[in-house]
Amino acid sequence: MKLQLALTTTLLLATEALSRRTCGNENPPAELIEKAILFKAMQKLAPKPVEENPVPRTQVIPLHIHNVYVNKTRDDGYITDEDVKNQFDVLNDNYASTGVSFDLKTVTHTENKAWAMASRGSTSEINMKKALRKGGYADLNIYIRPLRNGLLGYCTFPDTIAPGSDRFFLDGCDVLFSSIPGGSQAGYNEGKTATHEVGHWFGLFHTFQGGCSGGDLVDDTPAEGTATYGCPVGKDTCKGDMYPGLDPIHNYMDYSDDPCLTEFSEGQTVRLYQMWDHFRVPQGSANRTIFY
Ligand SMILES: [Zn+2]
Repeated sequence: MKLQLALTTTLLLATEALSRRTCGNENPPAELIEKAILFKAMQKLAPKPVEENPVPRTQVIPLHIHNVYVNKTRDDGYITDEDVKNQFDVLNDNYASTGVSFDLKTVTHTENKAWAMASRGSTSEINMKKALRKGGYADLNIYIRPLRNGLLGYCTFPDTIAPGSDRFFLDGCDVLFSSIPGGSQAGYNEGKTATHEVGHWFGLFHTFQGGCSGGDLVDDTPAEGTATYGCPVGKDTCKGDMYPGLDPIHNYMDYSDDPCLTEFSEGQTVRLYQMWDHFRVPQGSANRTIFY
């Protein structure tokens, strides 16, 4: 009986192929939207000529990667340290244009079926993160594991959080194990799901947030009416003088296939640092669980 159950689990995880990118971050918190509106207005009020722009910033982010698996096989969520390194390298490569780099401080591997399969908001999720989360609010924790409900990933947006609260421990990103470089998710196996999710952790929205009239509150990402699937070059869902430019299908914050995702915009880079300075730096030392 035990063997049968194990085999069933293996089969379910190995055959669960996603036909479309699905990210669990549709609704940014109200405070974050307020701040994004404010930051956008500030940029409009004080445009700077290119030659006066400050020297490009750099920021090193302490990173902790936690692999949580059902059984110690690749089909059941287990990834090797080499896989972790490959995902880490993709993150550094994809964020290079922003000046952000990641410093891999911790790698953990944990066999725990309840944690590996935990749904967002479940008791198992908070138990897992209370046990594994490292560092303060400026430390990035990524959980690479099987996920339920066909999600490729989800992540917490930056927010004002109470030290020691569940929301502090829940802070971080969850990424489907088969989306890592060389994983089994066709179209989504170059490790760019992690790049997209970490974009939310920095405070970036989807480029198609709110459709043509909504937007991601970043000036230089063209308006986009719908999420992109595949890599439809020339896609243009918001037409007319009000909406210049084609859809930003190559932007990491769209839903395109991994090979199609290649860039963050300059405006997103500015926004990332605005959010970093406002939310993560002031709260960065709160609740540090390790020191280095
Ligand atoms: Zn997303």
